[in-house]
Amino acid sequence: MKMIGLIGGMSWESTLLYYRIMNNEVAKAKGKLHSARLMLYSFDFEEIVVLQKIGAWEEAAQKLGAAGRALKTGGCEALVICTNTMHKVAADVERISGLPVIHIADCTGEEIIAQKISKVGLMGTKFTMEQPFYKQRLEDKYGIEVLVPNMEERRLVHMVIFDELCKGIINPRSKEAYQYVISRLKARGAEAVILGCTEICLLLNDDVCEGMPLFNTTLIHAQRAAQYAMERQELLEAV
Ligand code: GLU
Repeated sequence: MKMIGLIGGMSWESTLLYYRIMNNEVAKAKGKLHSARLMLYSFDFEEIVVLQKIGAWEEAAQKLGAAGRALKTGGCEALVICTNTMHKVAADVERISGLPVIHIADCTGEEIIAQKISKVGLMGTKFTMEQPFYKQRLEDKYGIEVLVPNMEERRLVHMVIFDELCKGIINPRSKEAYQYVISRLKARGAEAVILGCTEICLLLNDDVCEGMPLFNTTLIHAQRAAQYAMERQELLEAV
């Protein structure tokens, strides 16, 4: 089994979920007392948030890249960036670390097309909802049309992530607000919604909301990373 390097702490509330899901996935597949081979580089999230706020993505890329390099030195063979937002710098992390990144948007895009869905709503941080690095990848690589909430709704979704979910605060009123945003995406023609922030599943933990499937990126990403770690060498070489 490959050793996977987790670049986490963004926030640690969702990194905890990755650890649990990946270990569960390996235990389910291999039985006995098997568990995932993992190494975690956990950031002090405030250091990254400061860079996000001022748009210092290059500096953030250097930090995550250096973490990836340390994980490679420690023996890891692939990286998992435990946040949707920081996939903005995924290509830099690959280049600096010299390791492949198991991309969260690719894992999610593959799940969506497997369900024959072609138009989805996307909820996440304002960076993920507003910048092209995530939406464009889903559109270009998988032909998925991506709708985002309107400006006011985006502000609310973003605020709940940073002021509540990343601090472990679960507020039933925010859950209702998120359900409302999902209903609005449905009214605009979305067939499903991507929970495109790794903490949203702490608030919305059902598979369905407003009659639409929810794609939980934390679960999808962590499960696929565990599967990747267990794949035989010849399968990896075919990728
Ligand atoms: N974990 C979140 C995400 O998946 C937000 C934190 C961050 O800005 O990295 O996007």
